[in-house]
Amino acid sequence: MKDPHKVPKNIRFTSVLLTVFRSMLQLFPLVFVGFLLLAIGAAILLTAAPRIFQKIVDLVIAGNSLDQFWKLLAGYGLCLSIGSICKFGATKISFYIATQVEDRWRYAGLHHYYQLPFAWHDKHDSGEVGTRIDKGGSAIFVLLYELFGQNLLVAILTLLFVVIYTFLILPFFGVLLLLPIPIYIIITFFISRTIALKQASLNRLERTANRALYDGVSNVRTVKAFGKEDQEPEYYAKRWSKYHSFEYGVERLWFTQEFLQTVIEVTLRTALLTYCIYAIYSQQITLGQLILIISYQQMTFAPLAQLNQLFTRLRRNAKRASHLFEIIGEKDVLTDSPDAVSVKPLLQEIVLHNVSFEYTKKTAALYDINLAIPAGTTTALVGRSGAGKSTLAFLLLRFYDPDQGKITYDGTDLRSIQRASLRKQVTWIPQDTSLFNRTMRENIAYGNPKAGQEAIEQAAKLAQAHEFILKTPNGYNSVTGERGVKLSGGQRQRIAIARSLLTKPSILIMDESTSHLDSETEKAISESIQELHHKTTQIIIAHRLSTILHADQIVVLDEGRVVAVGKHQELLGNPIYKRLYELQFQRAK
Ligand code: ADP
Repeated sequence: MKDPHKVPKNIRFTSVLLTVFRSMLQLFPLVFVGFLLLAIGAAILLTAAPRIFQKIVDLVIAGNSLDQFWKLLAGYGLCLSIGSICKFGATKISFYIATQVEDRWRYAGLHHYYQLPFAWHDKHDSGEVGTRIDKGGSAIFVLLYELFGQNLLVAILTLLFVVIYTFLILPFFGVLLLLPIPIYIIITFFISRTIALKQASLNRLERTANRALYDGVSNVRTVKAFGKEDQEPEYYAKRWSKYHSFEYGVERLWFTQEFLQTVIEVTLRTALLTYCIYAIYSQQITLGQLILIISYQQMTFAPLAQLNQLFTRLRRNAKRASHLFEIIGEKDVLTDSPDAVSVKPLLQEIVLHNVSFEYTKKTAALYDINLAIPAGTTTALVGRSGAGKSTLAFLLLRFYDPDQGKITYDGTDLRSIQRASLRKQVTWIPQDTSLFNRTMRENIAYGNPKAGQEAIEQAAKLAQAHEFILKTPNGYNSVTGERGVKLSGGQRQRIAIARSLLTKPSILIMDESTSHLDSETEKAISESIQELHHKTTQIIIAHRLSTILHADQIVVLDEGRVVAVGKHQELLGNPIYKRLYELQFQRAK
């Protein structure tokens, strides 16, 4: 089956509508056919009802037999009731389709978001991307529900049948009914285009205001620490007031559009009524036909009146959907190649061959790195802040690919390994530990959701987390708070360590992950991790050299280059390492 979430390269209004429509057809072809049959049925029956009513009126005025009257009345009632049921059914089905298609696109957007490489995430504000996915999903619902639900399709089909039918029985009145359609469409098209352009600026202002909101709210501790509780709301309110000032201009356009439409509607309705009265006097039409024309006129204007609002809403929501499509259209440059292989636990070594990497043209982070990390050993990366330690870890995790050179895992280039398979072997404990706002148990079992309570507790014990977890009100069922705020920095780190240990990684990368711990806890965890020695290859990024004196090899990085590799004693002769060591030694004294 073709991918229903393929997005066009050129994201315009019509292509957004077509993309949403195509995905709906691919996902729910039969349900859509059912919807269409009901909509056509409703349109035919609701057009036929006024025609029967006309016959009833003419019959009553002519004073013909009642026999015919009852039959017509029954037909009228059936047409109206079955037509209304069809209309109601069509609306409900379209609601179902719209919500289902919306869900699929939301999923596709978020799924693609997680697939995108770090280089992309570095450049994008996660709060804004979240809003794009959320609003894009809702917009897709609105697009489909506006088009097919809300009776619009039924109303347009009814309008079509009304005009065709009137042409057939009373051609001149057919022309009069047709007249407002092009005029309405022209006005709506031009004004709504201007509104849509202004709407784009309005969306931008809305995004700026929301960014100010989320930025402030997510930094609530900093706001309070600096006593900015009053300034932050002001900062936010200023942006919203800018949004609303601009919105008044857009509202003026809406008013102009509605005013023009009302003038046209009143003029045409009056003209039609005048002509109808003349036609009755000159006996061109019967009273029944007059009622028919008035009913049909009502049915013609109702969808037209919806048209202007609809057009602008469609444009606005197409824009929002296009923001979601932009995310889905982003290329995942680190995607697995078709011949990518799966890897087993590391047996020999990881080797960096002439690896260079830069984040942007101006900030090269690693130059020409050659390094072997044998399986089952502990490698420590040391160096000043900004030396490139974390970047080297990121390349080992394949968050980024080297710009030059390659990294091999037991001889296989990382680029040729299935990402999921590599992630199973390599676990990372980051510097800034952030936890999910879920229970302790869920957080620890994140990488291994099938783990039983015993295994979870075992990992927590190794990470010195078990005791403090038991002291929390609900033990392993206690919720950690947003990003783990209910825990201290050290407790968060211990949960993160337990989470990593539970995955039983073949390679464990720890990025200053014990920095928030007191010396005693750190020592206890080091001992636990030492037990993993020979089973796990450890790569430790540490500022505190005391934690890595036992390392099998210490790699000294400076300004993105490897300046020395060796054991602690051997490196004391290296000026950079010696300086790092002395600084710590003095600090310790
Ligand atoms: P360390 O871990 O040794 O402190 P990093 O690997 O974090 O150093 O950083 C190495 C260099 O790369 C620094 O100059 C840093 O400013 C730069 N850098 C790190 N991350 C990014 C990024 N996402 N975008 C651009 N430059 C970055």
